[in-house]
Amino acid sequence: MTKTILFDLTNAELEKFVTDMGQPKFRAKQISEWMSRGAPDFSVMKNLPEKLRQDLDECAQTLLVRVIKKLESSDGETTKFLLELSDGEKIECVLMRTSYGNSVCVSSQAGCAMGCKFCASTLLGLKRNLTVNEIFSQILVAQWELRGDKFSEKPIRPNGDANNNDVSHIVVMGTGEPLQNTQNVIGFIERANTDMGIGWRRITVSTCGIVPGIEDLIAWGRPINLAISLHAPNDELRKKLMPIANKYTIAQVMDAAWRFTDTHNRQLMIEYLLVGDANGNLLNATTECANELSELLRGKNCMVNLIPWNAVAEREFTSPSGNAVHRFQDILIKNGIHARIRRERGNDIGSACGQLRLNNTKGVSDET
Ligand code: SAH
Repeated sequence: MTKTILFDLTNAELEKFVTDMGQPKFRAKQISEWMSRGAPDFSVMKNLPEKLRQDLDECAQTLLVRVIKKLESSDGETTKFLLELSDGEKIECVLMRTSYGNSVCVSSQAGCAMGCKFCASTLLGLKRNLTVNEIFSQILVAQWELRGDKFSEKPIRPNGDANNNDVSHIVVMGTGEPLQNTQNVIGFIERANTDMGIGWRRITVSTCGIVPGIEDLIAWGRPINLAISLHAPNDELRKKLMPIANKYTIAQVMDAAWRFTDTHNRQLMIEYLLVGDANGNLLNATTECANELSELLRGKNCMVNLIPWNAVAEREFTSPSGNAVHRFQDILIKNGIHARIRRERGNDIGSACGQLRLNNTKGVSDET
């Protein structure tokens, strides 16, 4: 028997579900309170009678996702989850405990169609878009990790600070291209804002540069943060790394991005991967590239995040040396561009972009 996923029901539907089981209506409210804290199953719902918990377990499940693997980095700051959706698809999300709060990186699609040459997420293609609740469930999994069933000891405090045990920041930077699933991503962000009190300014959407999607965000009008995965300072080089560059030029992408950030007076985030070819020759991490990038961004309100390439076994690239990375940053800074090197998190747990899903999905398809 397929189990009813209670998280996907409206309040009225959940009430009908419990009354059909011969239970009083207030049980629906109890159950939904547990679910809004990420309760993974019914066994933790201590205010429900034991027998009801067992009955529910037979015919229903709580969230849309099930944690099938949990990896903890050795420094204890990063937790990576491999989650299974109701149709068997697998996705990843990552919880990062930082000095400014607890940030969750969520996936927006199962797989990805963008085909970026350096990335693991896209190797098996796109399976499907995630629904609003599937994206939101990832936040709840992280929330449960932070808080467990101890929520009654302290009320959920929105917009938590570093000492708070709640999710405070969201980055839509996991597997998938969010602006190929824009309406569900917007629905998810609105839900995170209303249900969990996470402020617009603590939410970041990262895109490889889908111009109509950026236009949709401009029309939507909420002051979230936008990150552009640029990775090259000119179209010729960008096309070698990212097929999307054949569709939209850097000029088109940046024009839409500046319009978005100018409207909200926000700083634009530029993601810039630093990568070498198979022989170790720098591709986009040369002095010329650093100068060209500086020209492109000069005088603009932006921050460049430099990301040394995270090795992916299936991809024939190399990671530049620490020296090359610092040299690149120095040139940007000398040219008056804000730039920082992205601290690698959870390297020891394969946290790089789709690797966990890839390794586990491959395992499944090899057997079948
Ligand atoms: N599709 C969106 C969001 C997901 S990718 C986007 O392109 O922005 C999140 C970021 O990780 C992107 O900047 C992406 O280019 C980068 N990335 C992908 N594979 C990587 C790797 N192996 N090492 C480092 N960064 C990687």
